[in-house]
Amino acid sequence: MSEHTLEVMKCTHEKQKPDPDSLVFGTVFTDHMFIMDYSEEKGWYSPRIIPYQPLTLDPASMVFHYGQTVFEGLKAYRSKEDGTIRLFRPDMNIKRLNRSSERLTIPPVDEEQLLSYLKELLIIDKKWIPEKEGTSLYIRPFIISTEPNLSVAPSQSYKLMVILSPVGAYYKEGMSPVSILVEERYTRAAPGGTGTAKTAGNYSSAYKAQERATAKQKAQVLWLDASEKKYVEEVGSMNVFFKINGEIVTPKLNDSILDGVTRNSVIQVLKDWGLTVKEQQVEIEEIFRAHRDGILEEVFGTGTAAVISPVGQLEWNDENITIHHNKTGPLAQKLYNYLTDLHVGKEEDRFGWIV
Ligand code: PMP
Repeated sequence: MSEHTLEVMKCTHEKQKPDPDSLVFGTVFTDHMFIMDYSEEKGWYSPRIIPYQPLTLDPASMVFHYGQTVFEGLKAYRSKEDGTIRLFRPDMNIKRLNRSSERLTIPPVDEEQLLSYLKELLIIDKKWIPEKEGTSLYIRPFIISTEPNLSVAPSQSYKLMVILSPVGAYYKEGMSPVSILVEERYTRAAPGGTGTAKTAGNYSSAYKAQERATAKQKAQVLWLDASEKKYVEEVGSMNVFFKINGEIVTPKLNDSILDGVTRNSVIQVLKDWGLTVKEQQVEIEEIFRAHRDGILEEVFGTGTAAVISPVGQLEWNDENITIHHNKTGPLAQKLYNYLTDLHVGKEEDRFGWIV
């Protein structure tokens, strides 16, 4: 067997599937996982699907010390009509995985090969894709550096894994807007930093800001640029959109904003609907001014987890504003319905996004 042939070792007994109504995000995992290794001599080798299991790692493994690691997040949906497994633009996530790896000096993977391994894994664990409306199977590909060595330098060995976790409906009682604190002190990402990569440190370094937001009864923070604390970047782990006087505005991608798959899709859908979408620098002052002028119609975040997350309240410098009477705006609702219908095959795939 070649070093690149997928090996499959199935589990001997299947775990009990959880009740989709009581699922807590990211806590339950399926029966199998995908794993492959990297060494300087062999490249990526020995791809295999094995029963879900703990890892044994040397405590000196580089990932534990310098955080050389990247990850992705996407979802598989089940079509209500014919039961097929549907992925939304997985090529975009795999490309982004390679871009993140590039930033972290991790060797790239063959994109088509990884997608084919992912499909095999999904077929084996397909019974784990919940069918209830709004539910899905979250897919977490990730790479860790495994060389046992405390030198501050790129690892010479890695493991790429894919684990799967069934998730319940994000909105159990319909969409509801969230309150957001504009973060003045901490920064998520800086020019020349790692903000455009999905790497662990970007997320753990945001906990402190989240703690402050939670203490103020806010769901998440809105991140401003690192240099001037003037321009809007992202909201929590989502990209952000504003509807001002009939036009849609979103921060244009830069050196510190994550290039979201949902963001990219929402821009295309909005343009297709004939709306004006501007990707440009957005000043936080301009948003509060638009509110004072009565032309800030909607604010919403976009991301794989929630798809669309309406923002009902924003706090900046002790000034609190309420958007669209703290109710879900019509555009956020329309986008949410369109994308979630597309995920499960209730909407025609006009953009060719479904695999
Ligand atoms: N920004 C950050 C920082 C994120 O972690 C995510 C989630 N991947 C997003 C935006 C949204 O990206 P996507 O639409 O690809 O989920």
